[in-house]
Amino acid sequence: MVAVIGAGPRGLAVLGRLLAHLGPGGSWAGTGADLHVIEPQVPGAGRVWSPDQPEALLMNTLAGHATAYPDDSVRMAGPPLTGPGLLEWSRERGLGLAPWEHPGRALMGRYLAWAYEDLSRRAPDGVRVVPHRTRATALERVPGGIRVHLESGAPAVTADAVVLATGHTDQLPGARERELSRFAEHHGLVHLRPGYPHEAALDRLEPGATVLVRGLALNFFDQLTLLTAGRGGRFTQNPDGSARYLPSGREPRLIAGSGRGVPYLARGQAPGAMPRGHRLRYFDAERARQLAARGPGRVDFRTEVWPLIAREAGAAWYEVALRLRPGMSRLPRAEFLERYGAVEHGSPRWAALLAEAFPDPADRFDPAALDRPLAGRVFPDRQALGSWIRRFLRADLAAARDPEQSPLKAAAAAIAATKAQVRRVAVAGVLNAAGPRELRWFRGFGAHTASGPPASRIAELLALHEAGVVEFAGAGLTVGTDGAAGLFTGASPTVGGEPVRAGALLDAWLPGADLATTGSALLASLAPGGLARPHRAGAGDAAVPTGALDVDPVTLRVRDAAGVPQPDLFACGIPLEGIEWNTAIGARAGGNAALFRQADTVAHGMLTAAAGPYARR
Ligand SMILES: Cc1cc2nc3c(=O)[nH]c(=O)nc-3n(C[C@H](O)[C@H](O)[C@H](O)COP(=O)(O)OP(=O)(O)OC[C@H]3O[C@@H](n4cnc5c(N)ncnc54)[C@H](O)[C@@H]3O)c2cc1C
Repeated sequence: MVAVIGAGPRGLAVLGRLLAHLGPGGSWAGTGADLHVIEPQVPGAGRVWSPDQPEALLMNTLAGHATAYPDDSVRMAGPPLTGPGLLEWSRERGLGLAPWEHPGRALMGRYLAWAYEDLSRRAPDGVRVVPHRTRATALERVPGGIRVHLESGAPAVTADAVVLATGHTDQLPGARERELSRFAEHHGLVHLRPGYPHEAALDRLEPGATVLVRGLALNFFDQLTLLTAGRGGRFTQNPDGSARYLPSGREPRLIAGSGRGVPYLARGQAPGAMPRGHRLRYFDAERARQLAARGPGRVDFRTEVWPLIAREAGAAWYEVALRLRPGMSRLPRAEFLERYGAVEHGSPRWAALLAEAFPDPADRFDPAALDRPLAGRVFPDRQALGSWIRRFLRADLAAARDPEQSPLKAAAAAIAATKAQVRRVAVAGVLNAAGPRELRWFRGFGAHTASGPPASRIAELLALHEAGVVEFAGAGLTVGTDGAAGLFTGASPTVGGEPVRAGALLDAWLPGADLATTGSALLASLAPGGLARPHRAGAGDAAVPTGALDVDPVTLRVRDAAGVPQPDLFACGIPLEGIEWNTAIGARAGGNAALFRQADTVAHGMLTAAAGPYARR
């Protein structure tokens, strides 16, 4: 008897691998087993991919990349148990979906729910999949296994092995957040806290009400869709092909800012084509392997990892920039590119080469400006800031739709490709105590530059700005309260004049996973109960907590309070973000996805742990 807690894509993948190992050709073929799947939402889809969410909320993944089943590319031990990817599944149902489209998350949810039913039906003789439509609230070690307590009050499940595949769980609000909520309550205002876009109580935002929005990332684009097209507004086309918004009159007035002050950049993708991707040349598998072999706490991200990322991105940027404008460099393109590839980013030789080739710094690849486009800029008012951001967005949109002609999108593709290498280095545990902070920064930078929304969302944002539905509040946004006026305030060093005053505050982001502040009763109970401990990065006294649940990174066995990996308790995915980095990502078809490889490792480990009791049957 084993228990899978959480049946989003990862729990589903573990279920698939358990069934594969128990089925024909598997090491446990012929063994009877009960596989308990504990998930309060639709199993398979889970919370992120709820089939009930509005159809307008899009996946950030392309249809051709989404799958619930491992394919030939996945290097794993057990036998295959395959099935259709999202594209094939939707075609079988007559849904016209192209591989380069961003499908709705609800559609993906229906596919994942189908995959769960499909796998359950394919359970071999003597194997039962037992769903529990509830939440697990606590684990308890008992003689012969682990008891899983259930929120529904149904009898607890005692399992020989358990996996925690709990994904994005809620976080407790911090002191400042609670203060803002209290202020809202006291003055009859609205404060919508960080969370899932489709779960936010957006109907509390009245038509015409001024709403201060914190966050300009993917969550923001979802909220924007729900508050505009989701309220009956329509996007049409201007004669020049740009988008135009026809309001329904039920939209609130949104004034949005963030740390950067500009929205995430659009994904580079030519209309009607799959993106070409980027072949790594400098931060390749060998470099990642060398770094990963260095030993605990021995690698500094800023001086050893970032230069590789920057060189990879810079080379891609210059290659396109010099193809488009060969005259911008004083050196011939081929010579510059060869010499650039041979010098370390940030070194004196690198600086000398750039000075020789590009006397005007404005002609150079500037990752700092890419990260903080508004740094050092001040505008007299929001109107002036808005005009600047509109130009910025138009340029980004044009680049995204013709990525072959864009140095920026070439660099973005390179940055996206380096993420897998960064993950290899991170999971090896070799980064020093500054690692967690630097990885958090790179997650934001990488997401901003290379994992933003589809270009269509940027086109819509432009139209909404032009229609007066959205304004921008600037970079370094700080939210305050005006007790006398009974309103929230939003101030930014980017914009002069009076701060924004609003009767509603919308926090448009999903909090990261941190064991110390988790709102999950289950996760919070583990360390106090001795079944887990918080993970720390870096060596010795310099080690700092990363917010992750501590596991053995190879077997994914959860370490107990003493640091010993437990043979029957596993965890995968987002609760391990502080160890693995970039876990909030699904499996990619044809990409030897870590999600499937880890699911196989976990399934194998769980059945190994359960082998004792099975052997006795
Ligand atoms: C809004 C949003 C959009 C996203 N879009 C994309 C995208 O387009 N492409 C992409 O690759 N990634 C996307 N992601 C990232 C996402 O993390 C992964 O795609 C994927 O869902 C991770 O799978 P998972 O199973 O690890 O976690 P989840 O999908 O979060 O599933 C975990 C499940 O565990 C359940 N659970 C939690 N606690 C308990 C408990 N105590 N008892 C029982 N069950 C529990 C939850 O209900 C949930 O269903 C998105 C994430 C969010 C939040």
